[in-house]
Amino acid sequence: MNLILVNWVKYCTKEVFKTLKLLSIGSAIVLTVVVVKYKPAYKVTLSGETIGFVIDKELVSSKVEKYVNDTSGNIAFREIDNLPEYELKLISRDRKTNEKDVMLAVQNVTKTTYKFYAINSGDEQRAVMESEKDAESIINEIKSDLKSEIDLKLGIVEIYTDEYKVNTLEEAKNSLNEVKGARVFEYEAEIKEKEKQEREKVLKLAKTRTYATAGSVAPSGNLNGMALSIPVSGSISSRFGERSSIRSSIHTGLDIATSSGNGIRATTTGTVTFAGYKGSYGNLIIINHGNGVETYYAHCSAIYVSPGQSVDSSTTIGAVGATGNATGPHLHFEIRLGGTPVNPQNYLY
Ligand SMILES: [Zn+2]
Repeated sequence: MNLILVNWVKYCTKEVFKTLKLLSIGSAIVLTVVVVKYKPAYKVTLSGETIGFVIDKELVSSKVEKYVNDTSGNIAFREIDNLPEYELKLISRDRKTNEKDVMLAVQNVTKTTYKFYAINSGDEQRAVMESEKDAESIINEIKSDLKSEIDLKLGIVEIYTDEYKVNTLEEAKNSLNEVKGARVFEYEAEIKEKEKQEREKVLKLAKTRTYATAGSVAPSGNLNGMALSIPVSGSISSRFGERSSIRSSIHTGLDIATSSGNGIRATTTGTVTFAGYKGSYGNLIIINHGNGVETYYAHCSAIYVSPGQSVDSSTTIGAVGATGNATGPHLHFEIRLGGTPVNPQNYLY
């Protein structure tokens, strides 16, 4: 009975070893086949979609991280909804891994926002620059030869956009020069209009006053409320508006002939704005009386005043002479309203 049992146990053990041997041979064969045919790799998925296979997960994930967090140059920030997920797999040895495709897929779903510097004129965007420094230097260049009273309303504004679209320096300059040209033109037109209105105002004011009758020898008169007195005694040798042999144009003043060296007085209170030689006027004194009224005293033999000096009707400003375009000693006296010569005899004599 015992012998039968021992034999049976022996038999069983032998069978077990045989099976184990077979199993290990089989496993070895399977393992060899697996190692020869397959390799381990990471399947990369992005929002549930397979985007490729990579061997070095650490390298790829650090590249992805670096790309998403990149804020170099004009990149303000980057946004990605989901980061890639990695799953270890055995893949056929023939199958190529594709790190580049994985990076491209990541880049395709990443939104990049850029920061630029817009140059605005008022509310209007005129140019977009990569650097604030460029924007500043262009503005300074455009403003450099501009009158301080002309305001182009230029400013720099930070802008955020998903489009990499900037202007070249040349484009920006052209655009700002356009603004400048238009504004300068507008400014000059404004100034001309202002001057015109000023002249009209002065002329209108002058016309509404009553003055000494033309032709009568009144020693004084008035203009825009200012009492005028004759600058020098003498005889009128040429009237306003007359032509003469030595003048091709209409006479812009009144000529009062008298001896050379006789004192000339300011017609009324004012400030000397010019005292010197000026072409056919010879030695000339110009006095500004305010309200757009100026008087000219020409052909002087001597000048006793200088620019900036305050004068009144008691000040001897110069002496009668024949300097410049004059045939004999006389005072050429002009009254200008808003820059336009008017007939002195409307206000004096
Ligand atoms: Zn004259």
